[in-house]
Amino acid sequence: MNKTLKQLHEEIKSGSLTIEALVESCRKTINEKDGDIHALLGIYSDELINAEISHAKEMFAKGTATTLTGIPIVLKDNILVKGERATGGSKILENYTATYNATVVEKLRDAGAILFGRANMDEFAMGGSTENSAYGVTKNPHDTTRVAGGSSGGSAAVVAYGGVPVALGSDTGGSIREPASFCGIVGLKTTYGRVSRYGVMALGSSLDQIGPFGKSVSDVEEVYKVIAGYDKNDSTSLGKITDNRDKIAENTNEMRKIIGVPRAFIERDGIDAEVLKNFNESIEKLKNSGYEIKDVNIEHLEKALAVYYIIVPAEVSSNLARYDGIRYGLSHPGETSIQSYFESRTAGFGAEVRRRILIGTYVLSSGYYDSYYNKANLVKEMLKKEFVRVFKDVDIIATPTSPIPAFKIGEKSQDPLAMYLADIFTVPVNIVGVPAISIPSGKTEGSLPLGIQFISPHMREDMLFTIGYDFEKLG
Ligand code: GLN
Repeated sequence: MNKTLKQLHEEIKSGSLTIEALVESCRKTINEKDGDIHALLGIYSDELINAEISHAKEMFAKGTATTLTGIPIVLKDNILVKGERATGGSKILENYTATYNATVVEKLRDAGAILFGRANMDEFAMGGSTENSAYGVTKNPHDTTRVAGGSSGGSAAVVAYGGVPVALGSDTGGSIREPASFCGIVGLKTTYGRVSRYGVMALGSSLDQIGPFGKSVSDVEEVYKVIAGYDKNDSTSLGKITDNRDKIAENTNEMRKIIGVPRAFIERDGIDAEVLKNFNESIEKLKNSGYEIKDVNIEHLEKALAVYYIIVPAEVSSNLARYDGIRYGLSHPGETSIQSYFESRTAGFGAEVRRRILIGTYVLSSGYYDSYYNKANLVKEMLKKEFVRVFKDVDIIATPTSPIPAFKIGEKSQDPLAMYLADIFTVPVNIVGVPAISIPSGKTEGSLPLGIQFISPHMREDMLFTIGYDFEKLG
């Protein structure tokens, strides 16, 4: 599956490829590869897929087809599709069937996409390796002894091995960009509020965003254009529509082609030597192609990780209170309802989820709220101001996506702090709410993919696509 969405679209339009044949070839690749990789938790029902195929064919017949019409897409298993299962990677939702569609699902369907299957993920999107899934780990298609990254590891892996052309993930602290970089594909985290969160299982509601994976910047942009936009069902949805390409083309004229590199922050203990070398080479290539490179100092940047690991657990402890074993999901009856609540949650949640609920409950408790949660939010505001200041001088901030390439399965699963440190470059982006993209930047000597992260100001996804296309051309 190395064709772009635009190429597939032309082939379907000309009749040289049928939608049925495309869907069948995806099924075949998945059947061949997924037994080993375990990117998927399930394929949607035949009833759903067949109805989507008919709808897509109708759109072609009527001349209303979009670039996504007839294109199979996989969704991370925290995105709801009515009548289909959705587990969030958790045992507590093992038997849950969604009762409504997420807004992104409605949008993809209107565009004629074929919603194809559910991707494996860390439980409720907490993790960076998909090892926290209650349904087993997803392996990296480039080296099956290593993780695919996380928490959207399944979405990244299925695109990387060619099971489907594109997939959706969610990114609260790096969960699209990190697995994209580990699997050698492109992943986009949009401006906070750009894509509706309605119908997505909440992790950290003030940070969560859905975004696309693809093999090229162009494929990611095509999916972005379909899923972005205002939604009255999401109170944090942004109203301004700048997602039409004509407007974006106007905007690109303003791009000064200046890249800021927070050197002191990047060249830190713990960064892998090959990652640093590859990053420096990428920056050199951009410089030779006409970009100006500036060293920037972003104050408080190193505090973002600590802020994140206060805000997320706090929001987790409140968001996950709904899984009480009474209304839906796994239920362990106890003698009293409080006992039933304890038992269902102990049986249903994995270790990382319980750890975050405990930390979150602690940081929100009376007496600690001011010293932790409020303080974290103050630092968040300071960081936002810092980014506004830095973006006066540069258009783009560049960092490696991850300080390390894909690690071995089991290597960090017993060491939460080591796992959290892998998010050092991605987390600040969510704290500030700006968009960022991870693009493949080469490989290690051992053939593991590496990625570069480009960050732009709020609502300037267009700049990420512009630099993304430029970077892709540099090879
Ligand atoms: N690895 C980060 C975490 O564990 C990011 C998760 C995410 O973006 N969903 O929270």
